[in-house]
Amino acid sequence: MYSTPFLDLPPLLKAGGTVRLPGSKSISNRVLLLAGLSSGTTVVHDLLDSDDTRVMLASLRELGCEIDSTGQTLRIAGLGGRLKNRDAKLFLGNAGTAMRPLAAALAVMTATQGGRFELSGVQRMHERPIGDLVDALRQLGCRIDYLGTDGYPPLRLSAGSGSVRTTAPIRVRGDVSSQFLTALLLALPLVSATSPVAIEVEGELISKPYIEITLNLLTRFGIEVQRDGWERFTIPQGSAYRSPGDIHVEGDASSASYFVALGAIAATDSPIRIEGVGLDSIQGDIRFVEAARAMGANVSCGPGWLEVKRGAWPLKAIDLDCNNIPDAAMTLAVMALYAKGTTRLTNIASWRVKETDRIAAMATELRKLGATVTEGADFIEVSPPSHWRAAAIHTYDDHRVAMCFSLAAFNSLARAKPPTPVRILDPKCVGKTFPHYFETLFSVVETDTPLIPVLAVDGPSSSGKGTVASAVAQALGYHFLDSGAVYRATALAAMRAGLTPADEHAVALLAATLDLAFEDGSIRLAGEEVSDLLRDEAVGSMASKISALPTVRSALRELQLSFRKVPGLVADGRDMGTVIFPGADLKVFLTASAAKRAERRHKQLILKGISASIDNLRADLEARDARDQNRTVAPLKPAQDAVLLDNSDLSIEDSVKWVLDAWEQRRSF
Ligand code: C5P
Repeated sequence: MYSTPFLDLPPLLKAGGTVRLPGSKSISNRVLLLAGLSSGTTVVHDLLDSDDTRVMLASLRELGCEIDSTGQTLRIAGLGGRLKNRDAKLFLGNAGTAMRPLAAALAVMTATQGGRFELSGVQRMHERPIGDLVDALRQLGCRIDYLGTDGYPPLRLSAGSGSVRTTAPIRVRGDVSSQFLTALLLALPLVSATSPVAIEVEGELISKPYIEITLNLLTRFGIEVQRDGWERFTIPQGSAYRSPGDIHVEGDASSASYFVALGAIAATDSPIRIEGVGLDSIQGDIRFVEAARAMGANVSCGPGWLEVKRGAWPLKAIDLDCNNIPDAAMTLAVMALYAKGTTRLTNIASWRVKETDRIAAMATELRKLGATVTEGADFIEVSPPSHWRAAAIHTYDDHRVAMCFSLAAFNSLARAKPPTPVRILDPKCVGKTFPHYFETLFSVVETDTPLIPVLAVDGPSSSGKGTVASAVAQALGYHFLDSGAVYRATALAAMRAGLTPADEHAVALLAATLDLAFEDGSIRLAGEEVSDLLRDEAVGSMASKISALPTVRSALRELQLSFRKVPGLVADGRDMGTVIFPGADLKVFLTASAAKRAERRHKQLILKGISASIDNLRADLEARDARDQNRTVAPLKPAQDAVLLDNSDLSIEDSVKWVLDAWEQRRSF
């Protein structure tokens, strides 16, 4: 997951390949609650692992559920409707799918069994309405207090009279959030022992497909709700949750929308295949497929899969009532950037009470890209930009804003001149439902190599360039190439093969077929972890010698170039800016006095428990510098357009900041 302050997406040109979706958030949190309330043990497969499910799981544990997880499965021993722990403070982050149903279930349980609970969340959760649900629960006799603003969390639930009034129908508003009705449907079977419980919906029920998910899952857990249209729901007397044993969570249909859109925009050769959700889905957002088709997507589908290619191009503008696909409809607003004409999305008032005010957020951010946007209380109209602008997209701690705006990186397909990168601020907000969204996206997109940004950091041994470059790569969320390690690995392999620098052709052959992999900080040579071995002085000395051999250098060129991948690369070495990436967007030449470098190297060795004399180290560094500077191929020297940084008197943090500032000045945001 990217937890950088921002993530810059380079201009993207094409998409194709297969993605597997994480589990549905809506299904995951409902299943967790139902499994937690049921009698018996439920084994949940393919549960979504995200911020919202984590707060639900933590709450269930707090309430006394025993939960074990192994790999992709989770085993929950349900409470059988009886509270084990009657006093808890639950923190529910920004998860509406946890706050509303837990509030309802705990309210009726404390009313009948006693107890005291406090439910809170992040600031935005405390701005999301819950008053209609509280009013409905108070009709039952539940004692609920607002601890902050009336009508909003945090809430306190306290013991009631020992019973609830279920003889009259419970009335609840359906036109603000369908989660209020879902919460009641999930909770009221707990109090249906002596009489049926009826719920009547006031106002036009919105987001009906989410109620269908709720009813569907209730059936799986043994509750058959009787339904009169969308106005009245009755839970039969004597209903009780029964664990279904095993239950599978299907892939998230709302998350699928980004990849359906991706296929419609950029899958011009091979399709985007989406696995985990298909025609048989119980999620309403699967109907996004119809909207995407109306805009021109070429979609084929079957059980558990979708395949999408570009159909009409440019996309076709649509005028659509999005009440049934509120979450996925945000993706349509971004597809509108690639459509001919004005796209109008209506009946989306619920956007205003989601993770953020989504109508305002979408309008503001789409305008930053150059689109013309009109917003109303419950609609948005989007016309594509005539001039695209590079924009830093504010994401409002809203996963869907971050995910759908990543699609704006294909602007060159809509003739943006020049192709424009897109900056996504706070990319980790996707953790709410799709922690590896960007990694998944990057695995199926392509662009022209020159469009992928490169930051080159060159300099002599022990100038700190490796540490600085790796920290810069981390801060930008970019790939990292430690080219010194490539030479060192070649040296190690050569030493093991009994070669010397005199065996130039044999060493070059070995370099050309080097089986080297960099993964999460480890370096593997033919599968063996060699990071520590590579730092060995003898290996360094051999690296310095073989790196003067022209055929070895050219044999390692392709390998180094292959690190230039979306979203970008930070490369450090001696010739990154001069030979390997001469077109790098920023070239930094990092240096420090020989005395300072010898001192640093000395410190490193002492820390490792290796004794060494500073004088010898300095002599060795100077010899290496001389070899690097005087060799005929790729001699160590600053590129003409490099910026120089003598960091003799700077800390690593200062050098990193300096490089990041220099990078920022070159960016167009
Ligand atoms: O940077 P590091 O000390 O790990 O590099 C090991 C050796 O590899 C250096 O002494 C240098 O001679 C060589 N090298 C090179 N070109 C690079 C990176 C390293 O010649 N791009």
